[in-house]
Parts: sequence; structure tokens; C-alpha cells
Amino acid sequence: MIGKKLPFTKEQLEKIAEEYPTPFHIYDEKAIRANARKLNTAFSWNKGFKDYYAIKAVPNPYLMKILREEGFGIDCSSMAELELAEKVGLRGEEIMFTSNDTPAEEFKKAMDLGAIINLDDISHIPFLEKHAGIPELICFRYNPGPLKEGNMIIGQPEEAKYGGTREQLFEAYKIMRYKGVKRFGIHTMVASNELDTNYFIETAEILFDLIVELSEKLNIRFEFVNLGGGIGIPYRPEQTPVDLNVMSEGIRKLYNDLIEANGLAPIKIYFETGRVITGPYGYLVSRVLHIKNTYKKYAGLDASMVNLMRPALYGAYHHITVMGKGHLSHQTPYDVTGSLCENNDKFAINRLLPEMEPGDLVVIHDTGAHGHAMGFNYNGKLRSSELLLRENGEVMQIRRAETIEDHFATLDFGGLAKFEV
Ligand SMILES: *Cc1c(COP(=O)(O)O)cnc(C)c1O
Repeated sequence: MIGKKLPFTKEQLEKIAEEYPTPFHIYDEKAIRANARKLNTAFSWNKGFKDYYAIKAVPNPYLMKILREEGFGIDCSSMAELELAEKVGLRGEEIMFTSNDTPAEEFKKAMDLGAIINLDDISHIPFLEKHAGIPELICFRYNPGPLKEGNMIIGQPEEAKYGGTREQLFEAYKIMRYKGVKRFGIHTMVASNELDTNYFIETAEILFDLIVELSEKLNIRFEFVNLGGGIGIPYRPEQTPVDLNVMSEGIRKLYNDLIEANGLAPIKIYFETGRVITGPYGYLVSRVLHIKNTYKKYAGLDASMVNLMRPALYGAYHHITVMGKGHLSHQTPYDVTGSLCENNDKFAINRLLPEMEPGDLVVIHDTGAHGHAMGFNYNGKLRSSELLLRENGEVMQIRRAETIEDHFATLDFGGLAKFEV
């Protein structure tokens, strides 16, 4: 049985759960900081390198503050995300606005904040101009279509709704140059949760080639290349993570051969990753409520897919540790479920685990990205709290759990009395 590491013991976790009732997500600050530094160090050869953390992965101001301290920017794609960035104190080019199907007021907000606008489509140029004006710096999202193989979550680039074609990009930059834009960037993101290191090197090559051609044909100078997010994490214990140093070295070589050699340097390399930065360092902690034996064996938790949707949505694997039972044999196949009236509400199916009993603390791993954030309120289930395990071992609540009052806040029970049926 291959395990996964935890930043707390069973005794420590029981103490935390005494103060903060399960279920909750808990994030490991020390590991997140170390990981953020690892990425920055890997790319330290590139002056101006920056990762814009995709805030949708964990839209929590405390985590954002930590990452900003590590030199990260923020990648937003909605009004709430822009306002969150603003509330944390981020401004200007610390914010990348990579949206699609964008409402006018979001462009306006992004412009007001001085964010880098990353346009998803050529048709957004007149829309942006009409509602928010033309910025001094512009970026376009490229969709390489058949040039690139897709993967499970995003799908084939040709089938993906994001970005513009090669021909459209030439036209789009030309229009923007004509409109007086002087500063340019380019972006692509074609994969999600990809574990093949070469994939990102190949993506860089596609973009570098395109930069060479665009720069030459249009006589514009690129300031940055945004390689997007999508770097995967090893959800399964036997998987290996993307080697950030190998990836960086591969990209560095291409940078020398294509960007430097063509006199196009310096170009800053940006990413907008979420998962690879925080994903492995978040944990959903839950307790077994019931053990049920019918045609199968079920362990029913006090968490459900409203707290973590990935297994139900993508059939995603999330490793499970039953606290204090790691040394026992893992030979009992369990379906680990939540309480929704929805049969997909399962964290694992036929997972071999040690014998469980009600009250056992269960940790679901790798929930530090697209975990709590994807939550919802079906069946009136409430969103859980989020906790931060500080570097000094203290635990801090960085989001309280929802209450029934929060959940009913948009309903008007007062009007019922006057409501004629
Ligand atoms: C979701 C998303 C990201 C982050 O993806 P990760 O898999 O968390 O790295 C970055 N950029 C855009 C445009 C996205 O939609």
C-alpha cells in the first residue's frame, strides 16, 4: 500500500476537529510557500518571470496574500474574482484578466484596476473598445487547434471554446496596433491537469514560433508570453509530478534558440497555474457517520460532493487516508459516499481501505485546488469552513462554515404571508 504524506498526526487532527467541526478543508501554508518558491527558483533565469495564481482554484484572500508575498500575481476571470483581487490589495499588472464570453462590466472593472486584459476572441475588440476603451497593453489567447493534442478535462483544442485561430491572431494584433496599443503579450492554455512535462515545453515552442512570426510580420514587440495553467498533480500515489526544473530547462533552451536568437529578448515568461501550486497541500477532513452493508459496503461521511465535486464530475481519483488505520491491511472495498440524494455523490468506488467504523476521521487528499471552490448547495447542503495550518503549527480559520441563514439569505419568507395562491 503506497501512502501519501500528511502534515498532521491523528492526535493533532482530532484536536483541530474539536475546535472546528468536520467537514473542513485545511491548507498547509509551509508546503504552499515552499512549492511557490520552487517554481520561482526553477524560472529564475527569466527576468520578470511571474505566476499569476488562478484564483478560482482557492478564492480565499488569506491564501492570495501568502502567494502575493511569494511574488505571485492573480489570474481572474469573473467580477467576484476581480473584486477579491482588489480587496487583497492587488492592482495593475499584478492582475491578469483571462476571461471568456465576458460581460461588459467585467471588462470595465478589469480596466479600472489596470489589469492585463487577455482577450479570448477577435470579436471582443470592438466590444472592449465600446464598453471600457482600448488599453495600453493587450494579450490574446491562442487556440492552436489541430496543432496540439488535448486532454481529458479541457478536451481537444479544436473542440474547446477558448481562444482564437492563428489567422485571427494576426488580424487581432494588427487591429490593436492600428488602435495605438504599444505593448503586447500572448497566451495559450490547452490542457488541464497534464502530468507530461514535455507537453508544456511543446506548448512553449508553439507560442515562441508564433511570436517570431507575429513580431516579424506585424513589427510589434512582445513583452510577455503566458503559458497558462494546467500543470497536473499526482492525485494517485504512484504518479509522478511534473519536474519543474526539467520543464524550465526545456523552455530555456527554446527561449535561447527562438527568442534570443531572433533578437526578440527579453520576453517575460508568465504562467497562470492554480492546481500545481496549492492542490497537493489542501485536505478535506471528514468523519464517518455510518457504515452500511447491502450489496456493497458503504462508508457514509459527513462531507458530500458539495464539498468536493471532482470525483463525481470527472471520475477523478482522490486518495483517502483513514486516520490512525494506515498500518492496518487495506482489503475492504468501500464506496465512500456523502449524503446527497444523488447516486454520484461518491468520493471513491470500490476503494480498498481498512475496516472503518462510525467516528473515524477520514482525510481526502489533494483538495487544495478546485475543491471547496467548486462547491454548491444542492439538497441545501452548506459549504464547509476553510482552515489554514500556519507555519508555526497553529490553525486559523480563514473562512467560516455557511449557516442555514446564509443559505436562506436570498429568500423572502416575510412575503409569504401576503402571497395569495
Ligand atoms: C482554470 C484555469 C487556470 C488554472 O488551471 P490549473 O489547472 O489550476 O492550473 C489558468 N488559466 C485559465 C484561463 C483557466 O481557466
